[in-house]
Order: sequence, then structure tokens, then C-alpha cells
Amino acid sequence: MLLTGAAYRESIRDGRQVWIDGERVRDVTTHSAFKPIVDVRARVYDMAHEDATREVMAFADEAGGRSSIAWRPPRAKADWYAKRAWIDAVMHDIGGVAIRLGDETIGALWSMLDAREVLDNVDPRFTANIEHHVRRVVDRDLFHVSANTDPKGDRSKRPQDQDPDMLLHVVKETDAGIVVRGAKYETAAAYAHQAFVKPTIANWGDATMSDYALSFICPMNADGLKHICRTGFADRVNPDDYPLASRFDEVDTLLVFDDVLIPWEDVLFYRHTRAASFIRGMLHRYSAFPFVARLLHVADLLIGAALFNARQTGLHHQQAVREKLAELACYRQGIEAHLVAAIELAQPTDGGLLMPNQSMIYTGRMHACSRLPAMMHLARELVGGQICVTPDAAAFADPEIKDWLAKYYTVNEAWSAEDRRKLLAFARDLLNSGYAGHRLTFQLFAQSPPVAHLAAVYQTFDFQGPLAFVQRAAGLSDRVLEQKG
Ligand SMILES: Cc1cc2nc3c(=O)[nH]c(=O)nc-3n(C[C@H](O)[C@H](O)[C@H](O)COP(=O)(O)OP(=O)(O)OC[C@H]3O[C@@H](n4cnc5c(N)ncnc54)[C@H](O)[C@@H]3O)c2cc1C
Repeated sequence: MLLTGAAYRESIRDGRQVWIDGERVRDVTTHSAFKPIVDVRARVYDMAHEDATREVMAFADEAGGRSSIAWRPPRAKADWYAKRAWIDAVMHDIGGVAIRLGDETIGALWSMLDAREVLDNVDPRFTANIEHHVRRVVDRDLFHVSANTDPKGDRSKRPQDQDPDMLLHVVKETDAGIVVRGAKYETAAAYAHQAFVKPTIANWGDATMSDYALSFICPMNADGLKHICRTGFADRVNPDDYPLASRFDEVDTLLVFDDVLIPWEDVLFYRHTRAASFIRGMLHRYSAFPFVARLLHVADLLIGAALFNARQTGLHHQQAVREKLAELACYRQGIEAHLVAAIELAQPTDGGLLMPNQSMIYTGRMHACSRLPAMMHLARELVGGQICVTPDAAAFADPEIKDWLAKYYTVNEAWSAEDRRKLLAFARDLLNSGYAGHRLTFQLFAQSPPVAHLAAVYQTFDFQGPLAFVQRAAGLSDRVLEQKG
């Protein structure tokens, strides 16, 4: 079943408890802080029904219906190319970059399929729940997001030695399920259907069982669940001056679990620290791909904004300017190369799926995220200082002064004052605004912090090759390759 935009909007008018700026939100689909991004998500649902985009958005499923390509567990390279085409079509249609649309978070659930054997060994009660939920997202076209990060509190203390709710934990077991308490940070929770909740990166020590080692699926309108959202950008800015913040603010939530009952059929693992550690290590094996693919589109926005500005003022003929544009192109093509290589060298998994080549996608994620601040600064430099001194749209429309602005912002026959103003406003929102800074922080942390990105690179790179090469090149004995640990 493919939802329409209207059906999606109706489905999230479900009594969820949402607050923003100290105000209780009765309907996220109409509230000014959420409406723009709900409209984007609704548009993505509608794209699956329209002639021009239905093929790129959905596939013919086994039941004779159609399901979203975003939720389909990948089994072949073609599935990954289809997912890339889905992302490309969405970004071009919405005219910007939205990250948390669900396709970028569903992969964490697929990774649980690969952990089936380990999970069966620690506690076989819950593995059937994983398959059920993977299928359910496809069947019901559910917008599924991710909850890993707790407020955590003082990391030098055990959770039991401080307010125990600093990490989400079980407080009670009942016949119906488990009752959980704690909080998680979660982008898009306020307008998603459900979240996959799992432990944050934690030091389990020698403990084999812990009240904190739990994972489950939770609907976003569960009793006792409170969405406390950060202040929005969208409803605080004029769309003419902030064309990105006004449309693509993906509101983040502190999701408080105030004794929420999780039915047993929604529990994916429970109390076993071995399961928690194992799962943490493989959480992003699929979802890193759509995350990195978004950064390709960010790179295109940087290049487009910088090049239009350089062309507008005739600066693109300067060799030094071309070199800077070439540097942006290297960044962009570096991401592209990692995405293509990750598909072409994809790896089959124990769960019968096909994951992106792990070394390629994690090094690609590192390349894309760690170079982003420098690339934004380069684009900022190429756009020039007028990005932060240009008056707002209201000034350009003011009858008393508009002629002065028309005079100084008209560049040539191709570039009117209005187009130059629009381009500078766009570049400001991409590079300089509060929203731009927020997005940069999102890229830094949303798929865990850089330290975890590098750990993933270390764990998936095959160090044996360079070791064997140096062993031969330096004439070392075979024993050096046998060293353990
Ligand atoms: C805009 C935004 C959206 C987000 N959306 C989501 C979401 O949807 N779902 C979700 O679960 N989370 C989300 N997060 C949270 C994100 O996953 C966390 O911010 C991230 O995991 C880091 O955790 P922390 O903020 O507690 O930082 P900390 O754990 O306090 O880490 C801060 C820094 O301390 C250092 N550090 C910490 N631990 C170590 C270590 N073991 N070794 C070396 N250095 C270390 C690193 O420099 C690290 O960057 C989001 C964050 C942002 C900013």
C-alpha cells in the first residue's frame, strides 16, 4: 500500500503529544514550524502516484501491489541504483536537500536481519519481530526514523549512580510488554510514524545483562511519549530571504519516554549487552549510503551557488577562481566515486541482503563529512562578501530605495537585480545563516560523532593488504604477519 500525501497527513493527526517554544502543538501538519517539512514529506508520498515519477519511486511487489523503493531491503546492485535514483528524483523535485525522509534511517532495521544468528543465540524470542517490522514498513509505507542518542548525563559515572533515566531503560516487565523510561534525541520524530529505538554507544563493561540494553519499535503517538522540539527555523524567517530554512527545517525532538509500554511484539532485543554491542557495530552498514548520497546533493548546491556567482561577475575566467571551483568538483566527485564503488563492490550479508561495500561507504562518509566545512568555506569565498551585506527582499521592494538597489545589483543583461538578490539570499541560507550552521552540525553528528565514523573506517578497512606489501617490500619474515591482536 502506498500512502498519498493526504493520507500521510491524516495518519500523523493521531493525538501525539508535541511541544515547541513552550506551546502544545495540536496538529503538526498545520503548525507553522512543521508544515513546510510535513509538506515536503507529503510531496514525496505523492510522487509515487504521479505518472512522471511513479517508476522511480515504487516497485511492483510480490502481492501484486506497489511499494516504496525507499523501504525495500536491498538484495541486488540494481536495488541500490534504484535507491540512488529515488534520492535524485526527490531532491530535484523538492528543490533542495531533505535528509530525514525515512529512507536514510530504515537501513538500521535491515541491519538487524543480518544479526539474526547472534540474536537467536542470545535470546530467540524476538528475532521474528524483526522480520515482521521490516515487512510492516514496506506494507504500510511507514515513515520510520531513528533514536540512538540519550542525554547520557555524566559519562564518568555509571547510569545507576546518577539519575537512572539519563539512559533509556526498562522499569517494569508486564504480560503485555516492557515499560521503558528515559529520553532520546530524534530528528523528524514529531512528524514520523515510528522510531527504531536502540542503545547509544555505551561501555557495558563485564555485564552480560543490563536494563539499558534494549531495542524496540515505538509509534510516535504512544501513551506517555512526549515530543519536546527545539525552536524551529521555518516560521521565524521570510521565505524570500531564507529559501532553505523556510522549507527544509527538519525539526529535532527530545523524545521523553515517560513510562511507555512497549508490547512484546515490538521488542527487538532485550537486556543482553552482547546483542547491544553487536548491533551498534553494524547499525549504519546500510544507512550510511543514503546519508552520503545526500551530501552529493549538498556539494551540487555549493558548486551551483559558487559558479553562478563567479559567472555573474565574470570571475570564472580567472585561473585562480577555476582552481577553487575544481576543488569543489573534486569534493563532489570524491563522494560520487565512493557511492559508485560502494555499489559495484557491494557485499552479500548473512541475512541474505546486499550491503554497500563497507570500507568504501565508511571512507566515503568520512570524506564527505570531514571536508564539508572546508568546502562550505570555499564556496563562501567564491560567492564573495556581498553574501553577508546584501539587504533583504523588503528593501528591494521599498519604493523609496528600490531604484538604488536595482542600480547596484543589476550586473548585466543576464543577471537582473532580483536574480542577484535571490542568488545571494540562497547562498546566505546555504552557507551563513543559523540554519546553515545547524545543518553543518547535523552532518557532523546525525550518524553518530566523527570518532565513531573513524572507528567504522578502521574496522572495515582491510589492513592485511598494506601489511603484506610492506612485509615483502622490506624483506620481513613471515612471522610478522602472524602477530595476533
Ligand atoms: C542536528 C542533530 C540531529 C540529530 N538527530 C539524531 C537522531 O535523529 N537520532 C539520534 O539518535 N541522534 C540524533 N542526534 C544526536 C547525535 O547522534 C549525537 O549528537 C551524537 O551521537 C553525539 O552524541 P552527543 O551529542 O551526546 O555527544 P558526546 O557523546 O558528548 O560527544 C561529544 C564529543 O566528545 C568526544 N567523544 C565522546 N565520546 C568519545 C569517545 N568514546 N572517544 C573519543 N572521543 C569521544 C568526541 O569529540 C565527540 O564528538 C542528532 C544530533 C544533531 C546535532
